[in-house]
Amino acid sequence: MPSRATKAPPCPFEKIYPSQLKRDDQFFMSLAYNRAIDAWKENEVPIGAVIELGGEVIASAYNRVEATKDPTAHAEILAITQAANFIGDWRLNGATLYVTKEPCPMCSGASVMSRIGGVVYAVPDPKMGCLGGARDLHQLEAGNHRFPITMGVMEDECRQMLQAFFQAKRRSTSPQF
Ligand SMILES: [Zn+2]
Repeated sequence: MPSRATKAPPCPFEKIYPSQLKRDDQFFMSLAYNRAIDAWKENEVPIGAVIELGGEVIASAYNRVEATKDPTAHAEILAITQAANFIGDWRLNGATLYVTKEPCPMCSGASVMSRIGGVVYAVPDPKMGCLGGARDLHQLEAGNHRFPITMGVMEDECRQMLQAFFQAKRRSTSPQF
């Protein structure tokens, strides 16, 4: 079994502190970006998510698959659960999920099942993304819940972070001679 480096590679990215006055997609995505940095610092694939309702953040999470040893501990799933707890209802109509990478099949499905009001993501994923990338789970023929998707908000920043993380991991796990 290959050994896994337990220490996170140094994170060259810094958190963004956007103005609280302009609560646009960029604002909420920069908060998701900050959570992705939190993930990196815990040696997790740097993906972050926040959920907005009525101009306020009601959930904020990052990928915790390694720490929890739980394949479902994706940022989006953790954020959706938090948001449902906050609202006191499993229906997240009117809320918007912001995430730094296009949701996978599981998280796209959870978005559909939560009846989320919309999803905004940074980096499209043509291989595993299911909100427009590889599949369109939000547009299932028989599905009665469809929602708008916005892609590409802070795409470059979020892609750079993901690429840098995987490069750093490859360096730290390559054999030393
Ligand atoms: Zn996922």
